[in-house]
Amino acid sequence: MSRWWGPNIEIDGSWLLLKDGNYLRRGVTRSMWGTTQSWELAAAETWESDVQQVLKSIDKNRVGQLLLQEINAPGRKKCKIIPIQAANIEETRARPADWSKAMKATERFAKCPNDDFCSATASQPGATPHSSLLRGTGEGSSVRVHYHPGAWMASHQMMGVDGLGLPKLGQEDVLFHELIHVYRAQLGAFEFQVIGGAFGFLEEFYAVVLTNIFLSEGRPDAVLRGDHALEFHSLQDAGQPEDASEFFQRNRTMIERLLNDPSMSVLMHGLTRSGGTAQIANWNPLRVARLARDMYSSLP
Ligand SMILES: [Zn+2]
Repeated sequence: MSRWWGPNIEIDGSWLLLKDGNYLRRGVTRSMWGTTQSWELAAAETWESDVQQVLKSIDKNRVGQLLLQEINAPGRKKCKIIPIQAANIEETRARPADWSKAMKATERFAKCPNDDFCSATASQPGATPHSSLLRGTGEGSSVRVHYHPGAWMASHQMMGVDGLGLPKLGQEDVLFHELIHVYRAQLGAFEFQVIGGAFGFLEEFYAVVLTNIFLSEGRPDAVLRGDHALEFHSLQDAGQPEDASEFFQRNRTMIERLLNDPSMSVLMHGLTRSGGTAQIANWNPLRVARLARDMYSSLP
Protein backbone atom coordinates (compact mmCIF):
# COMPACT_ATOMS: atom_id res chain seq x y z
CA MET A 1 0.00 0.00 0.00
CA SER A 2 1.29 3.40 -0.92
CA ARG A 3 1.56 6.30 1.43
CA TRP A 4 0.72 9.87 0.45
CA TRP A 5 1.68 13.43 1.28
CA GLY A 6 -1.30 15.48 0.15
CA PRO A 7 -3.45 14.55 -2.84
CA ASN A 8 -0.68 14.67 -5.47
CA ILE A 9 2.41 13.11 -3.88
CA GLU A 10 2.34 9.32 -3.76
CA ILE A 11 5.09 7.36 -1.99
CA ASP A 12 5.02 4.00 -3.70
CA GLY A 13 7.44 1.27 -2.60
CA SER A 14 5.89 -1.54 -4.63
CA TRP A 15 8.76 -1.70 -7.14
CA LEU A 16 12.45 -1.07 -6.47
CA LEU A 17 14.40 0.54 -9.31
CA LEU A 18 17.72 -1.26 -9.77
CA LYS A 19 20.92 0.25 -11.09
CA ASP A 20 20.55 -1.65 -14.39
CA GLY A 21 17.20 0.05 -15.02
CA ASN A 22 15.11 -3.03 -14.18
CA TYR A 23 12.52 -3.11 -11.43
CA LEU A 24 12.19 -5.62 -8.62
CA ARG A 25 8.74 -6.22 -7.20
CA ARG A 26 8.16 -5.95 -3.46
CA GLY A 27 8.59 -9.33 -1.75
CA VAL A 28 10.75 -10.73 -4.56
CA THR A 29 14.32 -11.98 -4.41
CA ARG A 30 16.19 -12.27 -7.69
CA SER A 31 19.44 -14.09 -8.38
CA MET A 32 21.29 -13.11 -11.50
CA TRP A 33 24.91 -13.36 -12.55
CA GLY A 34 25.85 -14.70 -9.15
CA THR A 35 24.36 -11.85 -7.15
CA THR A 36 21.16 -11.87 -5.18
CA GLN A 37 18.94 -8.82 -4.97
CA SER A 38 15.83 -8.59 -2.90
CA TRP A 39 13.16 -6.07 -2.05
CA GLU A 40 11.67 -7.39 1.17
CA LEU A 41 8.21 -6.39 2.31
CA ALA A 42 9.65 -4.95 5.51
CA ALA A 43 12.24 -2.89 3.60
CA ALA A 44 9.52 -1.46 1.35
CA GLU A 45 7.42 -0.55 4.38
CA THR A 46 10.36 1.15 6.06
CA TRP A 47 11.23 3.04 2.89
CA GLU A 48 7.68 4.39 2.53
CA SER A 49 7.49 5.44 6.14
CA ASP A 50 10.96 7.07 6.05
CA VAL A 51 10.11 9.07 2.92
CA GLN A 52 6.90 10.24 4.56
CA GLN A 53 8.93 11.42 7.56
CA VAL A 54 11.27 13.38 5.27
CA LEU A 55 8.26 15.07 3.64
CA LYS A 56 6.86 15.84 7.07
CA SER A 57 10.03 17.61 8.04
CA ILE A 58 10.14 19.50 4.70
CA ASP A 59 6.59 20.64 5.48
CA LYS A 60 7.76 22.11 8.81
CA ASN A 61 9.99 24.56 6.95
CA ARG A 62 8.05 27.57 5.56
CA VAL A 63 9.85 27.32 2.22
CA GLY A 64 9.10 23.59 2.09
CA GLN A 65 5.50 24.19 3.05
CA LEU A 66 5.01 26.73 0.25
CA LEU A 67 6.42 24.28 -2.29
CA LEU A 68 4.39 21.30 -1.04
CA GLN A 69 1.19 23.38 -1.10
CA GLU A 70 1.88 24.32 -4.71
CA ILE A 71 2.68 20.74 -5.77
CA ASN A 72 -0.53 19.60 -4.10
CA ALA A 73 -2.68 22.37 -5.58
CA PRO A 74 -5.88 21.15 -7.28
CA GLY A 75 -5.53 20.22 -10.93
CA ARG A 76 -1.78 19.60 -10.84
CA LYS A 77 -0.21 16.53 -12.42
CA LYS A 78 0.79 13.77 -10.02
CA CYS A 79 4.17 13.07 -8.47
CA LYS A 80 5.16 9.53 -7.57
CA ILE A 81 8.23 8.86 -5.43
CA ILE A 82 9.73 5.42 -6.06
CA PRO A 83 12.63 3.66 -4.32
CA ILE A 84 16.18 3.18 -5.52
CA GLN A 85 18.85 1.21 -3.69
CA ALA A 86 20.53 3.21 -0.94
CA ALA A 87 23.94 2.65 -2.54
CA ASN A 88 22.86 4.19 -5.87
CA ILE A 89 23.08 7.78 -4.80
CA GLU A 90 23.69 9.01 -8.35
CA GLU A 91 20.37 7.51 -9.51
CA THR A 92 18.50 10.15 -7.52
CA ARG A 93 16.47 12.17 -10.00
CA ALA A 94 13.12 13.56 -11.07
CA ARG A 95 11.92 12.18 -14.40
CA PRO A 96 8.87 13.64 -16.15
CA ALA A 97 6.54 11.10 -17.76
CA ASP A 98 6.50 13.31 -20.85
CA TRP A 99 9.47 15.58 -21.53
CA SER A 100 7.65 17.64 -24.16
CA LYS A 101 4.80 18.45 -21.80
CA ALA A 102 7.24 19.28 -18.98
CA MET A 103 9.01 21.85 -21.17
CA LYS A 104 7.94 25.42 -21.77
CA ALA A 105 6.15 25.86 -25.07
CA THR A 106 9.05 27.92 -26.39
CA GLU A 107 11.67 25.22 -25.75
CA ARG A 108 13.27 22.94 -28.30
CA PHE A 109 15.41 20.19 -26.90
CA ALA A 110 17.08 16.93 -27.75
CA LYS A 111 16.25 13.62 -26.13
CA CYS A 112 18.35 10.47 -26.17
CA PRO A 113 16.91 7.05 -27.00
CA ASN A 114 17.44 5.99 -23.37
CA ASP A 115 14.93 8.69 -22.43
CA ASP A 116 17.49 10.87 -20.73
CA PHE A 117 17.63 14.53 -21.39
CA CYS A 118 20.43 15.67 -23.70
CA SER A 119 20.35 19.42 -24.12
CA ALA A 120 18.25 22.37 -25.15
CA THR A 121 19.24 22.48 -28.78
CA ALA A 122 20.82 20.04 -31.15
CA SER A 123 23.90 22.18 -31.52
CA GLN A 124 24.72 22.17 -27.83
CA PRO A 125 26.99 19.66 -26.13
CA GLY A 126 25.24 16.47 -25.10
CA ALA A 127 23.12 16.19 -28.23
CA THR A 128 24.13 13.19 -30.28
CA PRO A 129 23.27 12.27 -33.86
CA HIS A 130 20.79 9.67 -32.62
CA SER A 131 18.93 11.99 -30.27
CA SER A 132 15.55 13.25 -31.38
CA LEU A 133 14.73 16.93 -31.44
CA LEU A 134 11.50 17.74 -29.63
CA ARG A 135 9.44 20.82 -28.96
CA GLY A 136 7.97 21.75 -25.58
CA THR A 137 4.22 22.14 -25.19
CA GLY A 138 4.02 23.68 -21.69
CA GLU A 139 1.05 21.45 -20.77
CA GLY A 140 2.77 20.04 -17.69
CA SER A 141 3.65 16.44 -16.93
CA SER A 142 3.40 13.96 -14.09
CA VAL A 143 6.79 13.09 -12.62
CA ARG A 144 8.56 10.17 -10.97
CA VAL A 145 11.17 10.84 -8.34
CA HIS A 146 13.82 8.17 -7.77
CA TYR A 147 14.87 8.53 -4.17
CA HIS A 148 16.14 6.74 -1.09
CA PRO A 149 16.57 8.65 2.19
CA GLY A 150 19.22 6.15 3.28
CA ALA A 151 21.37 7.10 0.31
CA TRP A 152 22.15 10.40 1.96
CA MET A 153 22.96 9.06 5.40
CA ALA A 154 26.10 7.01 4.87
CA SER A 155 29.28 8.90 5.61
CA HIS A 156 31.20 7.14 2.84
CA GLN A 157 28.87 8.58 0.21
CA MET A 158 31.06 11.61 -0.33
CA MET A 159 28.58 14.17 0.90
CA GLY A 160 31.21 16.64 1.93
CA VAL A 161 33.64 15.58 4.58
CA ASP A 162 31.10 13.91 6.79
CA GLY A 163 31.67 12.52 10.27
CA LEU A 164 33.48 15.68 11.33
CA GLY A 165 30.42 17.85 11.60
CA LEU A 166 31.21 19.47 8.29
CA PRO A 167 28.59 20.50 5.74
CA LYS A 168 26.87 17.92 3.62
CA LEU A 169 23.61 17.35 1.86
CA GLY A 170 20.82 16.13 4.09
CA GLN A 171 17.82 13.92 3.30
CA GLU A 172 15.44 16.87 3.22
CA ASP A 173 17.71 19.04 1.08
CA VAL A 174 18.01 16.32 -1.54
CA LEU A 175 14.29 15.59 -1.74
CA PHE A 176 13.42 19.31 -1.73
CA HIS A 177 15.80 19.78 -4.69
CA GLU A 178 14.05 17.02 -6.65
CA LEU A 179 10.65 18.48 -5.75
CA ILE A 180 11.65 21.76 -7.40
CA HIS A 181 12.15 19.80 -10.63
CA VAL A 182 8.79 18.09 -10.00
CA TYR A 183 6.99 21.39 -9.56
CA ARG A 184 8.45 22.95 -12.69
CA ALA A 185 7.64 19.84 -14.73
CA GLN A 186 4.06 19.85 -13.38
CA LEU A 187 3.77 23.46 -14.52
CA GLY A 188 5.27 22.79 -17.93
CA ALA A 189 7.95 25.34 -17.02
CA PHE A 190 11.14 23.36 -17.73
CA GLU A 191 13.80 25.23 -19.66
CA PHE A 192 16.68 22.87 -19.64
CA GLN A 193 19.25 25.18 -21.19
CA VAL A 194 22.93 24.43 -20.84
CA ILE A 195 24.53 27.23 -18.85
CA GLY A 196 27.93 25.61 -18.44
CA GLY A 197 30.10 25.95 -15.38
CA ALA A 198 29.46 24.12 -12.17
CA PHE A 199 25.66 24.21 -12.44
CA GLY A 200 25.46 22.64 -15.89
CA PHE A 201 21.83 23.41 -16.64
CA LEU A 202 19.64 26.42 -15.89
CA GLU A 203 17.11 24.07 -14.25
CA GLU A 204 19.82 22.90 -11.80
CA PHE A 205 20.79 26.47 -10.99
CA TYR A 206 17.15 27.12 -10.03
CA ALA A 207 16.97 23.95 -7.91
CA VAL A 208 20.23 24.69 -6.07
CA VAL A 209 19.33 28.34 -5.35
CA LEU A 210 15.85 27.46 -4.10
CA THR A 211 17.26 24.65 -1.95
CA ASN A 212 19.72 27.11 -0.44
CA ILE A 213 16.79 29.38 0.48
CA PHE A 214 15.06 26.33 2.02
CA LEU A 215 18.25 25.53 3.98
CA SER A 216 18.72 29.10 5.13
CA GLU A 217 15.13 29.22 6.39
CA GLY A 218 15.51 25.94 8.31
CA ARG A 219 19.02 26.48 9.64
CA PRO A 220 20.13 30.12 9.54
CA ASP A 221 23.76 29.04 10.02
CA ALA A 222 23.67 26.37 7.29
CA VAL A 223 26.57 26.20 4.85
CA LEU A 224 25.02 26.70 1.42
CA ARG A 225 25.71 24.82 -1.76
CA GLY A 226 27.67 26.54 -4.52
CA ASP A 227 27.24 24.20 -7.48
CA HIS A 228 25.51 21.05 -8.71
CA ALA A 229 28.32 18.55 -8.12
CA LEU A 230 27.44 15.32 -6.31
CA GLU A 231 30.14 16.12 -3.81
CA PHE A 232 29.25 19.04 -1.57
CA HIS A 233 30.93 22.34 -2.48
CA SER A 234 30.02 25.41 -0.46
CA LEU A 235 29.41 28.78 -2.13
CA GLN A 236 32.91 29.72 -1.11
CA ASP A 237 34.43 26.48 -2.46
CA ALA A 238 32.64 27.09 -5.75
CA GLY A 239 33.87 30.69 -6.02
CA GLN A 240 30.38 32.17 -5.55
CA PRO A 241 29.69 35.13 -3.24
CA GLU A 242 28.27 34.09 0.14
CA ASP A 243 26.36 37.32 0.54
CA ALA A 244 22.85 37.12 -0.99
CA SER A 245 23.04 40.58 -2.58
CA GLU A 246 26.40 39.83 -4.15
CA PHE A 247 25.14 36.41 -5.27
CA PHE A 248 22.22 38.17 -6.94
CA GLN A 249 24.54 40.65 -8.69
CA ARG A 250 26.76 37.83 -9.96
CA ASN A 251 23.86 35.70 -11.24
CA ARG A 252 21.40 38.48 -11.95
CA THR A 253 19.98 37.35 -15.31
CA MET A 254 19.11 33.85 -14.11
CA ILE A 255 17.65 34.96 -10.78
CA GLU A 256 15.46 37.60 -12.43
CA ARG A 257 14.33 35.03 -14.96
CA LEU A 258 13.22 32.71 -12.14
CA LEU A 259 11.55 35.49 -10.16
CA ASN A 260 9.62 36.68 -13.20
CA ASP A 261 8.54 33.25 -14.46
CA PRO A 262 4.75 33.75 -14.66
CA SER A 263 3.97 30.08 -13.96
CA MET A 264 5.75 30.31 -10.60
CA SER A 265 4.23 33.56 -9.39
CA VAL A 266 2.51 32.05 -6.33
CA LEU A 267 5.71 30.47 -5.02
CA MET A 268 7.80 33.54 -5.89
CA HIS A 269 5.38 35.82 -4.12
CA GLY A 270 5.46 33.64 -0.99
CA LEU A 271 9.24 33.38 -0.93
CA THR A 272 9.93 37.08 -1.40
CA ARG A 273 7.46 38.67 1.00
CA SER A 274 9.12 40.99 3.46
CA GLY A 275 8.34 42.64 6.75
CA GLY A 276 9.11 41.33 10.23
CA THR A 277 8.41 37.66 10.88
CA ALA A 278 6.74 37.24 7.47
CA GLN A 279 10.17 37.47 5.89
CA ILE A 280 11.52 34.12 4.72
CA ALA A 281 15.14 32.97 4.94
CA ASN A 282 18.17 35.10 5.74
CA TRP A 283 19.90 34.14 2.53
CA ASN A 284 17.38 34.95 -0.17
CA PRO A 285 18.65 36.42 -3.47
CA LEU A 286 15.09 36.26 -4.83
CA ARG A 287 14.00 38.78 -2.21
CA VAL A 288 16.95 40.97 -3.17
CA ALA A 289 15.81 40.72 -6.80
CA ARG A 290 12.19 41.50 -5.89
CA LEU A 291 13.21 44.60 -3.92
CA ALA A 292 15.34 45.76 -6.84
CA ARG A 293 12.45 45.16 -9.26
CA ASP A 294 9.90 46.94 -7.04
CA MET A 295 12.22 49.91 -6.64
CA TYR A 296 12.77 50.13 -10.36
CA SER A 297 9.05 49.89 -11.16
CA SER A 298 8.23 52.65 -8.67
CA LEU A 299 10.54 55.13 -10.39
CA PRO A 300 8.67 57.95 -12.16
ZN1 LIG B 1 18.64 18.55 -9.98
